[in-house]
Amino acid sequence: NSFMGTAVHHPGIRFDDIGGQAPAKLEIQEALDFMKHYDKYQVMGIRPLKGILLTGPPGTGKTLLAKAAATYTDSVFIAASGSEFIEMYAGVGAQRIRSIFQSARNQAQKLKKRSAVIFIDEIEVLGGKRGSHSSHLEYDQTLNQLLVEMDGINTDPELQILLMGATNRADLIDDALLRPGRFDRIVNVDLPDVEGRLQILKIHTNNKPLCQDVDLSVIAKETFGFSGAQLESLCNEGAIYALREEEKFICQKHLKEAIDKVMMGERAEKTPTK
Ligand code: ATP
Repeated sequence: NSFMGTAVHHPGIRFDDIGGQAPAKLEIQEALDFMKHYDKYQVMGIRPLKGILLTGPPGTGKTLLAKAAATYTDSVFIAASGSEFIEMYAGVGAQRIRSIFQSARNQAQKLKKRSAVIFIDEIEVLGGKRGSHSSHLEYDQTLNQLLVEMDGINTDPELQILLMGATNRADLIDDALLRPGRFDRIVNVDLPDVEGRLQILKIHTNNKPLCQDVDLSVIAKETFGFSGAQLESLCNEGAIYALREEEKFICQKHLKEAIDKVMMGERAEKTPTK
């Protein structure tokens, strides 16, 4: 089964590596503290959290947040994408759901971890409203299997599993996934504001040689509407411009040029010409 299940212990990403998104980080961390201090909550009869749904536009750091959650809780991390579960043959999607949860259990045991974070990107593809797809049966079986797995989470006191889903179409998610005991928390991961953009720019220039004249706060102001992924790309492009001019340092003008480049790239993607 060559599909996914790339389990990594410690993806290495920490919450500090994620710029902006302060409310999302706080909300997630609070939920994770339940997991870390499981015994304490258990005494109080608080039922453990099973799922967190991250919603928001592409490239805002949802995957990073899931990785940071795994690091924070010293968990095994397993990632998959919703589209990997959709197959032509009935039952295959459901089987894949089973095997990703099984693989979380196996990996945790192997690495002697007490918790696992399973991340499913584009979860609307498999967790979409039931009966809304053309080949109902297959989708419904896959979603039903996910619900079964979620209900079975945390029946093992030795292993906690947290499912993190990500989507930019929360409106398509089946209500059954949003019931208590399923995705208990919905966390909004929006485009970064100016302060968030500055933090992200700092993170992605941290390993790069910058000229004296660089003022990242100006770049942050001029990049309204940029996602974290676009800001990362901007920093990279800036470095390429500098190199092209055979400069040893990246200057403000290179970063400004990179703003245009990233914006143009976006436009080109939206209006494809031949
Ligand atoms: P998608 O919905 O397209 O999967 P996503 O929200 O999961 O997007 P990520 O995969 O987490 O986005 O981000 C892509 C890349 O963009 C990251 O690897 C990182 O380089 C950069 N990035 C995005 N958001 C941030 C952020 N808040 N701070 C720092 N870097 C970020």
